[in-house]
Amino acid sequence: MLKQRWIDFYHASKERPDDIMLEIGAGGELLVANVRVGFTAFLFLIPLASFLFAEDAYETFAGLTGVSVGLLLSFYWLALSKRENRPEWLTFATSSSDISCVSLVLFLLAYYNPSAGTNSVIAWCCYLLCILSTAMRNDVRVTLFAGGMACLQFALIVFYVLVIRSNDLFSIEYGTAQLSNSVQRIILLFIFTLSTALIVFRMQNLVRISGSDGLTGLPNRMYLNRRVPQLIQQAKLDNHHLSFALIDLDHFKQINDDLGHQAGDAALCHVVNVLQSVLHNDEMLMRIGGEEFLYVSPFSTQETFNRLEIMRQKVAESNYSPGNGQASRQITLSAGTASYPEDGCDMSSLLRCADLRLNKAKGNGRNQVLAHD
Ligand code: GH3
Ligand code: MG
Ligand code: MG
Repeated sequence: MLKQRWIDFYHASKERPDDIMLEIGAGGELLVANVRVGFTAFLFLIPLASFLFAEDAYETFAGLTGVSVGLLLSFYWLALSKRENRPEWLTFATSSSDISCVSLVLFLLAYYNPSAGTNSVIAWCCYLLCILSTAMRNDVRVTLFAGGMACLQFALIVFYVLVIRSNDLFSIEYGTAQLSNSVQRIILLFIFTLSTALIVFRMQNLVRISGSDGLTGLPNRMYLNRRVPQLIQQAKLDNHHLSFALIDLDHFKQINDDLGHQAGDAALCHVVNVLQSVLHNDEMLMRIGGEEFLYVSPFSTQETFNRLEIMRQKVAESNYSPGNGQASRQITLSAGTASYPEDGCDMSSLLRCADLRLNKAKGNGRNQVLAHD
């Protein structure tokens, strides 16, 4: 079980999350972009405090440079995050720029006072803040990437201090730059990154569970409400077809009455397995009610009708065997389709149209697909 979790985590660290996760991550990116602007402006207080309390002028300069670069970048990232079509690399670029701003401050400190570069607590803690904020991107890959960058860049600063500036390792304010202390900080960065990535992974699992149906494992109504408007939007942008079909099993109540609720559940899973065996990669099936499903495809009306006909026939041919010596039962379905743009341009009008056709198919005697009024 634990081993499987780690295998899943390993896959999550390599694979692009699904579109719902990315959409949640995009909301997180915008949130981070807004927070970043306010937060970076707030960080001006650190060099200001160093200036007011008459610490080193160079320290004030290093802080001011890092925060100014950070603020300029923050406005740029905010503008990009607000765009309708955000580039997919944006989350990687913003998180690595956050980390690099912290490294810039540490490097400037180290240039003036080598032990400040390795021993400063305030600037180093900003690495942790940057890694933590990647959690809002909802993408394990981004967190690991940002954490990896922090470890690597801090290791380079340590190298610069301990190897290139090895004659100048002590200062009264920051003590002595030491290898052991620096290695401990890199280990802490690594552990912090891993913990944050595990939190993201757990969050992804919770989103997945809330978006899928417990009995059949199909995406549920929550998924429908989030995903379908996006698909319609995309079809409008690309000028593509998008078709829907509402599917309802015929006389299913009778199955429950005859065989019991548990066998009814098994019959539902049986039908879903049959439907899934026919589905192609570009088609989607969701369970939106008891024994009601929504089929989504990028096809035209005629092609969608043909696909639904194949499904209807396959389900009607694949009798359900309840076991315990009971006779197998035929299960049939009725469906009504609706296509963008012919039948509507938004989710509610398309589903209404598909529902009217489904009701008509039921009225016409069931076990049929209706694609026209
Ligand atoms: P129709 O052909 O008109 O659709 O007849 P129907 O009996 O299928 O009627 P309707 O669709 O209105 O009723 C659905 C029934 O499906 C009600 C309920 O007994 C059963 N059902 C819904 N969800 C589940 C479920 O999760 N498990 C089981 N076992 N039965 C369910
Ligand atoms: Mg029903
Ligand atoms: Mg029914």
